[in-house]
Amino acid sequence: MATIQVSRTCFRCNQTSEIEVDAEGYRRWREEGVFIQDALPEVPAGYRELLLSGTCDACFSIIRKARLQDYERTLKERGLLDT
Ligand SMILES: [Zn+2]
Repeated sequence: MATIQVSRTCFRCNQTSEIEVDAEGYRRWREEGVFIQDALPEVPAGYRELLLSGTCDACFSIIRKARLQDYERTLKERGLLDT
């Protein structure tokens, strides 16, 4: 199985990760529009996120948490959440 190194820089923390991926799976994802989780099942989810959205795993959880907090705040403001 041939693998290639893909280098991605997180747009939020500017950290570059080298991700080793299956060359054929990577090609199928890029060129054939195969879902990344089907094309590259062996790549950890955090790295798949980096390939997809350009944010590393750590930054992605921070962003997700911030979004959740925003969402809860909106619910509270509308009186839909009583805590
Ligand atoms: Zn990051």
